[in-house]
Amino acid sequence: MSETQRKAPVDCYTGDPELLPVVEARARIDALLTVVSGEERVTLREALGRILAEPIVSSVNVPGHTNSAMDGFALASTDLPRDGTCRLRVLGTAWAGRPFGGRVAPGSAVRVMTGAVMPDGTDTVIMKEQVEEQADAKGELIVIGGGHRAGQNVREAGEDIALGARLLDTGTRIMPAELGLIASLGIGEVRVLRRPRVAFFSTGDELRCAGETLAPGEIYDSNRYTLFAMLARLGVEPIDMGVVRDDAEAVRNAFREACAAADVVISTGGASTGEADYIAETLGELGEVRFWRIAIRPGRPLAFGRVGDALFFGLPGNPVAVMVTFYQFVQPALLRMMGSREAAANPVIRATCVSRLRKKPGRVEVYRAILERDADGRVTVRSTGKTGSGLLHTMSDANCFILLPEDGETVEPGAEVDVQPFYGLV
Ligand code: AMP
Ligand code: MG
Repeated sequence: MSETQRKAPVDCYTGDPELLPVVEARARIDALLTVVSGEERVTLREALGRILAEPIVSSVNVPGHTNSAMDGFALASTDLPRDGTCRLRVLGTAWAGRPFGGRVAPGSAVRVMTGAVMPDGTDTVIMKEQVEEQADAKGELIVIGGGHRAGQNVREAGEDIALGARLLDTGTRIMPAELGLIASLGIGEVRVLRRPRVAFFSTGDELRCAGETLAPGEIYDSNRYTLFAMLARLGVEPIDMGVVRDDAEAVRNAFREACAAADVVISTGGASTGEADYIAETLGELGEVRFWRIAIRPGRPLAFGRVGDALFFGLPGNPVAVMVTFYQFVQPALLRMMGSREAAANPVIRATCVSRLRKKPGRVEVYRAILERDADGRVTVRSTGKTGSGLLHTMSDANCFILLPEDGETVEPGAEVDVQPFYGLV
Protein backbone atom coordinates (compact mmCIF):
# COMPACT_ATOMS: atom_id res chain seq x y z
CA MET A 1 0.00 0.00 0.00
CA SER A 2 1.45 3.37 -1.00
CA GLU A 3 1.98 6.23 1.39
CA THR A 4 -0.55 8.48 -0.39
CA GLN A 5 -3.25 5.82 -0.17
CA ARG A 6 -2.72 5.22 3.48
CA LYS A 7 -2.87 8.86 4.53
CA ALA A 8 -6.33 10.00 3.54
CA PRO A 9 -6.53 13.77 2.87
CA VAL A 10 -8.62 15.88 5.25
CA ASP A 11 -11.61 15.51 2.95
CA CYS A 12 -11.16 12.03 1.63
CA TYR A 13 -13.75 12.56 -1.11
CA THR A 14 -12.04 15.19 -3.16
CA GLY A 15 -9.81 14.01 -5.93
CA ASP A 16 -10.89 10.39 -5.82
CA PRO A 17 -11.66 9.47 -9.41
CA GLU A 18 -12.85 6.00 -8.44
CA LEU A 19 -15.84 7.16 -6.41
CA LEU A 20 -18.90 5.57 -7.96
CA PRO A 21 -22.09 7.65 -8.25
CA VAL A 22 -24.89 6.32 -6.03
CA VAL A 23 -27.21 5.55 -8.97
CA GLU A 24 -24.49 3.52 -10.65
CA ALA A 25 -23.82 1.62 -7.41
CA ARG A 26 -27.54 0.78 -7.15
CA ALA A 27 -27.57 -0.39 -10.77
CA ARG A 28 -24.63 -2.70 -10.14
CA ILE A 29 -26.34 -4.18 -7.10
CA ASP A 30 -29.59 -4.63 -9.04
CA ALA A 31 -27.73 -6.46 -11.77
CA LEU A 32 -26.81 -9.27 -9.37
CA LEU A 33 -30.15 -9.63 -7.59
CA THR A 34 -32.51 -12.57 -7.88
CA VAL A 35 -35.53 -13.46 -5.77
CA VAL A 36 -34.73 -16.30 -3.37
CA SER A 37 -36.10 -19.66 -4.39
CA GLY A 38 -38.13 -21.76 -2.01
CA GLU A 39 -41.54 -21.45 -0.41
CA GLU A 40 -43.13 -22.68 2.76
CA ARG A 41 -46.61 -23.09 4.13
CA VAL A 42 -47.20 -21.31 7.39
CA THR A 43 -50.12 -20.71 9.70
CA LEU A 44 -51.74 -17.32 9.57
CA ARG A 45 -50.02 -15.83 12.60
CA GLU A 46 -46.62 -17.05 11.44
CA ALA A 47 -47.30 -15.26 8.15
CA LEU A 48 -47.11 -11.78 9.68
CA GLY A 49 -44.36 -9.83 7.88
CA ARG A 50 -43.81 -12.58 5.31
CA ILE A 51 -44.13 -12.26 1.53
CA LEU A 52 -46.97 -14.08 -0.21
CA ALA A 53 -45.91 -16.77 -2.68
CA GLU A 54 -49.46 -17.15 -3.99
CA PRO A 55 -52.26 -14.73 -4.81
CA ILE A 56 -55.20 -14.68 -2.42
CA VAL A 57 -58.49 -15.08 -4.27
CA SER A 58 -61.74 -14.94 -2.37
CA SER A 59 -63.78 -18.13 -2.34
CA VAL A 60 -66.57 -16.48 -0.39
CA ASN A 61 -68.53 -13.26 -0.13
CA VAL A 62 -67.66 -11.05 2.85
CA PRO A 63 -70.06 -10.47 4.45
CA GLY A 64 -71.55 -13.78 3.49
CA HIS A 65 -75.16 -12.57 3.88
CA THR A 66 -76.95 -9.31 3.47
CA ASN A 67 -77.23 -8.06 7.05
CA SER A 68 -78.31 -5.19 9.21
CA ALA A 69 -75.86 -2.34 9.88
CA MET A 70 -77.88 -1.14 12.90
CA ASP A 71 -79.89 -2.26 15.87
CA GLY A 72 -83.49 -1.62 14.78
CA PHE A 73 -86.31 -3.09 12.75
CA ALA A 74 -86.19 -4.75 9.33
CA LEU A 75 -89.12 -4.29 6.99
CA ALA A 76 -90.01 -4.21 3.30
CA SER A 77 -89.42 -0.78 1.76
CA THR A 78 -92.88 -1.05 0.18
CA ASP A 79 -94.24 -0.63 3.73
CA LEU A 80 -92.52 2.76 4.25
CA PRO A 81 -95.23 5.44 4.66
CA ARG A 82 -95.54 7.88 1.73
CA ASP A 83 -96.84 10.47 4.14
CA GLY A 84 -97.90 10.38 7.77
CA THR A 85 -97.05 7.31 9.77
CA CYS A 86 -97.78 3.60 9.63
CA ARG A 87 -97.97 0.78 12.12
CA LEU A 88 -96.26 -2.59 11.68
CA ARG A 89 -96.55 -5.74 13.75
CA VAL A 90 -93.24 -7.10 15.14
CA LEU A 91 -92.99 -10.81 14.36
CA GLY A 92 -89.85 -11.67 16.30
CA THR A 93 -86.11 -11.00 16.58
CA ALA A 94 -83.05 -11.70 14.39
CA TRP A 95 -79.71 -11.78 16.24
CA ALA A 96 -76.19 -11.70 14.81
CA GLY A 97 -75.55 -15.38 14.15
CA ARG A 98 -79.19 -16.39 14.87
CA PRO A 99 -81.40 -15.59 11.87
CA PHE A 100 -85.15 -15.09 11.97
CA GLY A 101 -86.70 -18.24 10.48
CA GLY A 102 -89.95 -17.13 8.89
CA ARG A 103 -90.96 -14.90 6.04
CA VAL A 104 -91.94 -11.31 6.74
CA ALA A 105 -95.33 -10.55 5.22
CA PRO A 106 -96.37 -6.99 4.21
CA GLY A 107 -97.44 -4.92 7.22
CA SER A 108 -94.94 -6.55 9.57
CA ALA A 109 -91.35 -6.13 10.76
CA VAL A 110 -88.62 -8.01 12.65
CA ARG A 111 -86.45 -6.61 15.40
CA VAL A 112 -82.79 -6.91 14.20
CA MET A 113 -79.42 -6.59 15.87
CA THR A 114 -76.33 -5.28 14.05
CA GLY A 115 -74.90 -8.08 11.91
CA ALA A 116 -78.15 -10.11 11.85
CA VAL A 117 -79.06 -11.68 8.51
CA MET A 118 -81.85 -9.67 6.86
CA PRO A 119 -85.03 -11.72 7.22
CA ASP A 120 -86.78 -12.95 4.05
CA GLY A 121 -89.08 -10.28 2.69
CA THR A 122 -87.18 -7.31 4.15
CA ASP A 123 -84.73 -4.90 2.51
CA THR A 124 -84.63 -1.86 4.83
CA VAL A 125 -83.68 -1.21 8.47
CA ILE A 126 -84.98 1.59 10.66
CA MET A 127 -82.87 2.46 13.69
CA LYS A 128 -84.56 1.60 16.95
CA GLU A 129 -84.26 5.23 18.11
CA GLN A 130 -86.44 6.28 15.16
CA VAL A 131 -89.52 4.16 15.91
CA GLU A 132 -92.20 4.35 18.55
CA GLU A 133 -92.70 0.98 20.20
CA GLN A 134 -96.23 -0.02 21.24
CA ALA A 135 -98.02 -3.17 22.40
CA ASP A 136 -101.53 -4.59 22.12
CA ALA A 137 -103.18 -7.85 23.11
CA LYS A 138 -101.49 -9.69 20.22
CA GLY A 139 -97.98 -8.43 21.00
CA GLU A 140 -95.54 -5.74 19.87
CA LEU A 141 -96.07 -3.02 17.28
CA ILE A 142 -93.93 -0.20 15.90
CA VAL A 143 -94.98 3.14 14.51
CA ILE A 144 -92.71 4.66 11.86
CA GLY A 145 -92.73 8.08 10.34
CA GLY A 146 -91.34 9.61 7.15
CA GLY A 147 -87.80 10.43 6.00
CA HIS A 148 -86.59 6.88 5.42
CA ARG A 149 -84.98 5.53 2.29
CA ALA A 150 -85.47 2.12 0.71
CA GLY A 151 -82.43 -0.12 1.42
CA GLN A 152 -81.04 2.05 4.22
CA ASN A 153 -78.85 0.61 7.00
CA VAL A 154 -78.26 -2.64 5.15
CA ARG A 155 -74.87 -4.17 4.30
CA GLU A 156 -74.94 -6.14 1.08
CA ALA A 157 -73.45 -9.61 0.81
CA GLY A 158 -69.99 -9.30 -0.79
CA GLU A 159 -69.82 -5.56 -0.05
CA ASP A 160 -66.34 -5.83 1.53
CA ILE A 161 -65.00 -8.70 -0.57
CA ALA A 162 -66.81 -10.21 -3.57
CA LEU A 163 -66.66 -13.92 -4.36
CA GLY A 164 -63.85 -14.48 -6.91
CA ALA A 165 -62.08 -11.18 -6.22
CA ARG A 166 -58.26 -11.27 -6.44
CA LEU A 167 -57.44 -9.60 -3.15
CA LEU A 168 -53.71 -9.89 -2.70
CA ASP A 169 -51.01 -10.53 -5.27
CA THR A 170 -47.91 -12.66 -4.98
CA GLY A 171 -45.18 -10.44 -3.52
CA THR A 172 -47.45 -8.70 -1.03
CA ARG A 173 -46.04 -8.37 2.45
CA ILE A 174 -48.53 -9.59 5.03
CA MET A 175 -49.20 -6.73 7.43
CA PRO A 176 -52.00 -6.43 10.03
CA ALA A 177 -54.71 -5.52 7.49
CA GLU A 178 -53.69 -8.38 5.18
CA LEU A 179 -53.62 -10.84 8.07
CA GLY A 180 -57.17 -9.88 9.02
CA LEU A 181 -58.28 -9.90 5.40
CA ILE A 182 -57.00 -13.44 4.88
CA ALA A 183 -58.63 -14.54 8.13
CA SER A 184 -61.94 -12.98 7.03
CA LEU A 185 -61.94 -15.45 4.12
CA GLY A 186 -61.56 -18.36 6.50
CA ILE A 187 -58.07 -19.22 5.21
CA GLY A 188 -55.88 -20.60 8.00
CA GLU A 189 -52.58 -21.24 6.16
CA VAL A 190 -50.77 -19.46 3.35
CA ARG A 191 -47.77 -20.09 1.12
CA VAL A 192 -44.98 -17.59 1.66
CA LEU A 193 -41.50 -17.17 0.20
CA ARG A 194 -38.49 -18.42 2.10
CA ARG A 195 -36.73 -15.68 4.05
CA PRO A 196 -33.25 -14.85 2.73
CA ARG A 197 -30.50 -15.96 5.12
CA VAL A 198 -28.24 -13.04 5.95
CA ALA A 199 -24.96 -13.70 7.78
CA PHE A 200 -23.17 -10.78 9.37
CA PHE A 201 -19.97 -10.15 11.27
CA SER A 202 -17.99 -7.24 12.67
CA THR A 203 -14.29 -6.81 12.05
CA GLY A 204 -11.84 -5.04 14.33
CA ASP A 205 -9.17 -5.90 16.90
CA GLU A 206 -10.60 -3.20 19.16
CA LEU A 207 -14.04 -4.77 19.46
CA ARG A 208 -15.44 -6.46 22.54
CA CYS A 209 -18.91 -7.86 23.07
CA ALA A 210 -21.39 -6.27 25.47
CA GLY A 211 -20.91 -7.88 28.87
CA GLU A 212 -17.13 -8.30 28.49
CA THR A 213 -14.50 -6.10 30.17
CA LEU A 214 -12.67 -3.54 28.03
CA ALA A 215 -8.87 -3.34 27.90
CA PRO A 216 -7.36 0.12 27.18
CA GLY A 217 -8.25 1.27 23.66
CA GLU A 218 -11.02 -1.27 23.17
CA ILE A 219 -14.65 -0.43 22.44
CA TYR A 220 -17.90 -2.33 22.51
CA ASP A 221 -19.22 -3.71 19.24
CA SER A 222 -22.47 -1.90 18.47
CA ASN A 223 -22.72 -2.63 14.75
CA ARG A 224 -23.72 -6.24 15.25
CA TYR A 225 -26.67 -5.07 17.31
CA THR A 226 -27.90 -2.39 14.91
CA LEU A 227 -27.44 -4.85 12.05
CA PHE A 228 -29.27 -7.62 13.86
CA ALA A 229 -32.12 -5.21 14.59
CA MET A 230 -32.35 -3.87 11.04
CA LEU A 231 -32.33 -7.38 9.60
CA ALA A 232 -34.86 -8.73 12.07
CA ARG A 233 -37.22 -5.79 11.45
CA LEU A 234 -36.93 -6.35 7.72
CA GLY A 235 -37.97 -9.97 8.12
CA VAL A 236 -34.92 -11.85 6.86
CA GLU A 237 -33.20 -14.65 8.79
CA PRO A 238 -30.20 -13.09 10.57
CA ILE A 239 -27.15 -15.27 11.24
CA ASP A 240 -24.77 -13.64 13.72
CA MET A 241 -21.17 -14.71 13.04
CA GLY A 242 -19.59 -12.64 15.80
CA VAL A 243 -16.45 -10.50 15.77
CA VAL A 244 -13.58 -11.26 13.40
CA ARG A 245 -10.04 -10.08 14.15
CA ASP A 246 -8.10 -7.83 11.77
CA ASP A 247 -6.10 -10.68 10.37
CA ALA A 248 -6.07 -11.77 6.71
CA GLU A 249 -6.58 -15.45 7.48
CA ALA A 250 -9.33 -14.82 10.05
CA VAL A 251 -11.18 -12.60 7.55
CA ARG A 252 -10.78 -15.23 4.80
CA ASN A 253 -12.21 -17.92 7.07
CA ALA A 254 -15.12 -15.73 8.07
CA PHE A 255 -15.89 -15.07 4.39
CA ARG A 256 -15.84 -18.77 3.53
CA GLU A 257 -18.02 -19.80 6.44
CA ALA A 258 -20.54 -16.97 5.99
CA CYS A 259 -20.84 -17.33 2.22
CA ALA A 260 -21.50 -21.05 2.54
CA ALA A 261 -24.27 -20.48 5.09
CA ALA A 262 -26.13 -17.50 3.66
CA ASP A 263 -27.68 -15.84 0.63
CA VAL A 264 -26.20 -12.49 1.62
CA VAL A 265 -23.18 -11.66 3.79
CA ILE A 266 -22.65 -8.32 5.50
CA SER A 267 -19.48 -7.24 7.26
CA THR A 268 -18.75 -3.98 9.02
CA GLY A 269 -15.39 -2.26 9.34
CA GLY A 270 -12.12 -2.86 7.58
CA ALA A 271 -13.50 -1.73 4.23
CA SER A 272 -11.23 1.23 3.60
CA THR A 273 -7.55 1.42 2.77
CA GLY A 274 -5.93 1.21 6.19
CA GLU A 275 -3.28 -1.39 6.90
CA ALA A 276 -5.72 -3.44 8.97
CA ASP A 277 -8.46 -3.35 6.31
CA TYR A 278 -8.83 -6.69 4.57
CA ILE A 279 -12.39 -6.68 3.28
CA ALA A 280 -12.09 -5.41 -0.30
CA GLU A 281 -8.89 -7.41 -0.79
CA THR A 282 -10.46 -10.64 0.46
CA LEU A 283 -13.60 -10.10 -1.60
CA GLY A 284 -11.44 -9.83 -4.73
CA GLU A 285 -9.43 -12.89 -3.74
CA LEU A 286 -12.34 -15.23 -3.00
CA GLY A 287 -14.96 -13.75 -5.32
CA GLU A 288 -15.45 -10.64 -7.40
CA VAL A 289 -15.61 -6.96 -6.44
CA ARG A 290 -18.26 -4.88 -8.24
CA PHE A 291 -17.35 -1.66 -6.48
CA TRP A 292 -15.96 -0.54 -3.18
CA ARG A 293 -16.06 3.23 -3.02
CA ILE A 294 -19.21 5.28 -3.47
CA ALA A 295 -19.84 9.02 -3.71
CA ILE A 296 -21.95 9.17 -0.56
CA ARG A 297 -21.39 10.64 2.88
CA PRO A 298 -21.41 8.97 5.29
CA GLY A 299 -20.71 5.57 3.77
CA ARG A 300 -17.96 5.99 1.24
CA PRO A 301 -16.08 2.71 1.67
CA LEU A 302 -18.68 0.13 0.73
CA ALA A 303 -17.38 -3.02 -0.89
CA PHE A 304 -19.95 -4.91 -2.92
CA GLY A 305 -19.58 -8.09 -4.87
CA ARG A 306 -20.18 -11.80 -4.91
CA VAL A 307 -18.57 -14.89 -3.44
CA GLY A 308 -19.95 -18.04 -5.03
CA ASP A 309 -23.74 -17.71 -4.90
CA ALA A 310 -23.70 -15.25 -2.01
CA LEU A 311 -23.86 -11.47 -2.38
CA PHE A 312 -21.43 -9.59 -0.22
CA PHE A 313 -21.76 -6.11 1.31
CA GLY A 314 -18.68 -4.84 3.14
CA LEU A 315 -20.09 -1.87 5.06
CA PRO A 316 -17.95 0.82 6.71
CA GLY A 317 -17.06 0.53 10.39
CA ASN A 318 -18.49 3.76 11.73
CA PRO A 319 -21.86 3.03 13.35
CA VAL A 320 -23.84 5.76 11.54
CA ALA A 321 -22.28 4.88 8.20
CA VAL A 322 -23.41 1.28 8.78
CA MET A 323 -27.01 2.35 9.21
CA VAL A 324 -26.97 4.82 6.32
CA THR A 325 -25.49 2.35 3.86
CA PHE A 326 -27.76 -0.43 5.07
CA TYR A 327 -30.89 1.63 4.46
CA GLN A 328 -29.67 3.18 1.20
CA PHE A 329 -28.23 0.07 -0.45
CA VAL A 330 -28.69 -3.18 1.47
CA GLN A 331 -32.34 -2.93 2.51
CA PRO A 332 -33.68 -2.21 -1.01
CA ALA A 333 -31.60 -5.15 -2.29
CA LEU A 334 -32.87 -7.49 0.43
CA LEU A 335 -36.47 -6.45 -0.22
CA ARG A 336 -36.07 -7.43 -3.84
CA MET A 337 -34.47 -10.75 -2.90
CA MET A 338 -37.33 -11.38 -0.50
CA GLY A 339 -39.68 -11.11 -3.49
CA SER A 340 -41.39 -8.05 -2.08
CA ARG A 341 -43.13 -5.64 -4.41
CA GLU A 342 -42.53 -2.80 -1.93
CA ALA A 343 -38.83 -2.62 -2.87
CA ALA A 344 -39.30 0.45 -5.05
CA ALA A 345 -41.70 2.12 -2.66
CA ASN A 346 -39.30 3.56 -0.12
CA PRO A 347 -41.15 6.86 0.32
CA VAL A 348 -39.29 10.13 -0.13
CA ILE A 349 -41.25 13.29 0.69
CA ARG A 350 -40.48 16.98 0.34
CA ALA A 351 -40.27 19.22 3.39
CA THR A 352 -39.01 22.67 4.26
CA CYS A 353 -35.59 22.51 5.88
CA VAL A 354 -35.02 24.95 8.72
CA SER A 355 -31.31 24.15 9.18
CA ARG A 356 -28.36 25.18 7.08
CA LEU A 357 -26.81 22.01 5.60
CA ARG A 358 -23.31 22.17 4.25
CA LYS A 359 -22.96 20.22 1.05
CA LYS A 360 -20.20 19.62 -1.46
CA PRO A 361 -21.09 18.81 -5.06
CA GLY A 362 -20.07 15.40 -6.38
CA ARG A 363 -21.51 13.18 -3.68
CA VAL A 364 -24.83 12.36 -2.10
CA GLU A 365 -24.99 13.56 1.49
CA VAL A 366 -27.28 11.98 4.04
CA TYR A 367 -28.18 14.02 7.11
CA ARG A 368 -29.84 12.69 10.24
CA ALA A 369 -32.84 14.87 10.91
CA ILE A 370 -36.09 15.46 12.74
CA LEU A 371 -39.33 15.82 10.79
CA GLU A 372 -42.03 17.69 12.70
CA ARG A 373 -44.88 20.17 12.39
CA ASP A 374 -44.22 23.75 13.38
CA ALA A 375 -46.71 25.98 15.24
CA ASP A 376 -48.42 26.87 11.95
CA GLY A 377 -48.92 23.20 11.05
CA ARG A 378 -46.21 23.35 8.37
CA VAL A 379 -44.08 20.21 7.98
CA THR A 380 -40.46 21.11 8.58
CA VAL A 381 -37.25 19.19 8.96
CA ARG A 382 -34.10 20.07 10.86
CA SER A 383 -30.70 18.48 11.30
CA THR A 384 -30.02 16.64 14.56
CA GLY A 385 -26.84 18.70 14.79
CA LYS A 386 -23.48 16.96 14.91
CA THR A 387 -22.74 14.97 11.79
CA GLY A 388 -19.83 12.69 12.79
CA SER A 389 -20.37 9.18 11.42
CA GLY A 390 -19.40 7.63 14.73
CA LEU A 391 -22.13 9.42 16.70
CA LEU A 392 -24.76 6.71 16.96
CA HIS A 393 -26.93 8.71 19.36
CA THR A 394 -27.75 11.09 16.50
CA MET A 395 -29.51 8.18 14.74
CA SER A 396 -31.54 7.66 17.86
CA ASP A 397 -32.38 11.40 18.00
CA ALA A 398 -33.43 11.40 14.33
CA ASN A 399 -36.71 10.26 12.84
CA CYS A 400 -35.71 10.69 9.20
CA PHE A 401 -32.87 11.13 6.73
CA ILE A 402 -32.45 14.22 4.58
CA LEU A 403 -31.08 13.16 1.19
CA LEU A 404 -29.09 15.79 -0.65
CA PRO A 405 -28.46 14.92 -4.30
CA GLU A 406 -25.03 14.51 -5.82
CA ASP A 407 -25.14 17.76 -7.79
CA GLY A 408 -26.74 19.82 -4.98
CA GLU A 409 -24.98 22.57 -3.08
CA THR A 410 -25.29 23.90 0.47
CA VAL A 411 -28.92 24.15 1.64
CA GLU A 412 -30.00 27.44 3.18
CA PRO A 413 -32.84 27.55 5.77
CA GLY A 414 -36.24 27.67 4.06
CA ALA A 415 -35.27 25.48 1.11
CA GLU A 416 -37.18 22.28 0.28
CA VAL A 417 -35.32 18.99 0.64
CA ASP A 418 -35.94 15.28 0.10
CA VAL A 419 -36.80 13.47 3.32
CA GLN A 420 -36.95 9.75 4.01
CA PRO A 421 -39.00 9.10 7.17
CA PHE A 422 -37.82 6.23 9.36
CA TYR A 423 -41.25 5.06 10.49
CA GLY A 424 -44.74 4.63 9.18
CA LEU A 425 -47.86 4.09 11.26
CA VAL A 426 -48.20 0.41 10.47
P1 AMP B 1 -12.86 0.79 10.25
O1 AMP B 1 -13.70 0.97 9.02
O2 AMP B 1 -12.65 -0.64 10.56
O3 AMP B 1 -11.59 1.56 10.11
O4 AMP B 1 -13.69 1.42 11.46
C1 AMP B 1 -14.02 2.79 11.46
C2 AMP B 1 -14.38 3.22 12.88
O5 AMP B 1 -15.56 2.53 13.27
C3 AMP B 1 -13.35 2.91 13.93
O6 AMP B 1 -13.32 3.97 14.85
C4 AMP B 1 -13.85 1.65 14.57
O7 AMP B 1 -13.41 1.50 15.89
C5 AMP B 1 -15.34 1.84 14.50
N1 AMP B 1 -16.03 0.55 14.47
C6 AMP B 1 -15.73 -0.44 13.60
N2 AMP B 1 -16.52 -1.51 13.85
C7 AMP B 1 -17.32 -1.17 14.88
C8 AMP B 1 -18.33 -1.86 15.58
N3 AMP B 1 -18.65 -3.11 15.25
N4 AMP B 1 -18.95 -1.22 16.59
C9 AMP B 1 -18.61 0.05 16.92
N5 AMP B 1 -17.66 0.74 16.29
C10 AMP B 1 -17.00 0.15 15.28
MG1 MG C 1 -11.30 -1.58 11.68
